[in-house]
Amino acid sequence: MPERRLKIKHLLNRLSLLVVAVTGLIVAAILLLSNYSAQLAQKSEQELLPSIHEHQRAALNLERLERMGDLVAYGADLALMRRNALAAQVLAYQPSFNFDPKIQKAVRDAYELIKALRIARQQYLKLPADHSDRDQQLKLLQQKEQVLQTQWGEHKQVLFELQNRIITDATALQSQTLQKITQTSSRILIVGMIGVTLFVFVLIVAATLLRRHLVTPVTDASRALLAIESGKKYQLRAADYDEIATINHAVDRLSSTMKKLHEMATTDSLTGCYNRRYFMELAEEELINAHSKQAPLALLMMDLDHFKRVNDEYGHATGDETLKLCTQWIRDLLPEGCFLGRLGGEEFAILLTQHNSLDTFKLAECIRVCLSEQSAQQTSIPHFTVSIGIESKCYVTDTVDSLLSLADKALYQAKSSGRNKVVVGQRNSNTLPVN
Ligand code: GH3
Ligand code: MG
Ligand code: MG
Repeated sequence: MPERRLKIKHLLNRLSLLVVAVTGLIVAAILLLSNYSAQLAQKSEQELLPSIHEHQRAALNLERLERMGDLVAYGADLALMRRNALAAQVLAYQPSFNFDPKIQKAVRDAYELIKALRIARQQYLKLPADHSDRDQQLKLLQQKEQVLQTQWGEHKQVLFELQNRIITDATALQSQTLQKITQTSSRILIVGMIGVTLFVFVLIVAATLLRRHLVTPVTDASRALLAIESGKKYQLRAADYDEIATINHAVDRLSSTMKKLHEMATTDSLTGCYNRRYFMELAEEELINAHSKQAPLALLMMDLDHFKRVNDEYGHATGDETLKLCTQWIRDLLPEGCFLGRLGGEEFAILLTQHNSLDTFKLAECIRVCLSEQSAQQTSIPHFTVSIGIESKCYVTDTVDSLLSLADKALYQAKSSGRNKVVVGQRNSNTLPVN
C-alpha cells in the first residue's frame, strides 16, 4: 500500500491560514483599542471637559463671591453694597455650584452672611444723626458688624479652601483623562509591537517550514540530478509531501535507468567485462596518465585455445558458461587499477597499471595457470587453456592500438608455438623469459 502523504498545497493552505489568522487577530486587537481610545476621547469631550469647565467656572464664581462679600462687609457706598449683595444672591443661587451639595450650601451660607452684613452695614451707616442714644447705638451696631465681619473672614477661609479643592479636583480630572488617553495609546503601541513581533515570528516559522519541506527537498533533488549526470553518488532524504516523494521517485528511477544505460553502453552482457569500445576509452585515459606520470603500463591479449571445440562438443550454452567463469576467475586475480575487456568472441584484453615487465609476465602466467587449474576442477564446463601475448614496454609514441597490435602479435606467436602459453612482445623480450 502506498504511503499516504500530505500535498504541498495543504502545507501552503495551512501556512496561509496561520498568517491570515494572526494578521486578523492583530488588526482586531488594534481596532478594538483604537475604538476604545476614540470612545475615551469622545467621553472626555462630552463629559469630562464640561465637568472641568464647570469646576473652573465654580472656582471663578467663588472668587467673585468673596470679592462681593468684601465689598459689602467693608464698603461705604450703600448703593454699591446693595448691588453687590444682589449679585451675590444671583451668584449663590445659580446652577454652577449644583454639582456639589457641600459647595452649594457654603455658597448659600455666604450669601446669608453677606445679606446680614449688608443689613448691619446699612443700619450702621443710616443711623439718624439725632438719635437719642446714638453713641451707644453706634457702638452696638459696630460690635454686631465686627462679629459678622469676623464670621465673614472665617467663611471666606472656607470658601477659599473650597475654591482650592475645586481647582485640585479639576486638575485631577484633567490629568486622569490625559492619563487614560496616554495609557490607551501606549497599549495600542504595545499591542502593535507584539503584533509585529508575532507576525515576524509567524513569517519566520512559515519560511522555515517552506524551506524544510519544499526548498531543501527540491535543492536536494536538483543536486541529485547533477550527481546522476556526472556519475556520482547522491542521497535523498525521506519526503514528507506527495509531490516531493514523486520527484524523489523520478530521480531514483532516472538514476537506475542511467546506471543500466551506462552498464549497457560499457559492458558486455554475457561476461560483465568492459566492451571493446569502453575498454579502448579507459585504456586511452590510462595511457595518457602513464605518459604524464612516466608510470608503467602493460597490455595483454588473451584468447581461449580451441574454443570452437567447446561449442562443438558441449554446446553453445556450455561455451557461454565457460566464457563467464573464465572472466570471473580473471577478475578475481586482477589487482586494483587493472581491468579486463572483451574485444570479441573468446578474445580478451587486460590492462595492467603499476606493473613492470616482470610483474606483468608473472601475473599473465598466474592467469594462464589458474584458468587451466580451475577449469579442470569445474565440472560444469570442460577443461580449457588460454594463450596470452604481452606488451609491457610503453613509449611516448605508442597508442592503445599500437600496443594492442604488438600484444596481438605476441598472442599469435603463443598460438602458433603450441598454445597454453604466455609470450612477451619482441620489444621487451630480451629482459624477460621467452616461451
Ligand atoms: P584458437 O585456439 O586458434 O583460438 O581456436 P578457436 O577455436 O578458439 O578459434 P576460432 O576463431 O576458430 O573459434 C572461435 C570460436 O568462439 C567460434 C565461436 O563459435 C566461438 N564463440 C565466439 N563468441 C562466442 C560466444 O559468445 N559464445 C560461445 N558459446 N561461443 C563463442
Ligand atoms: Mg580461440
Ligand atoms: Mg579467437
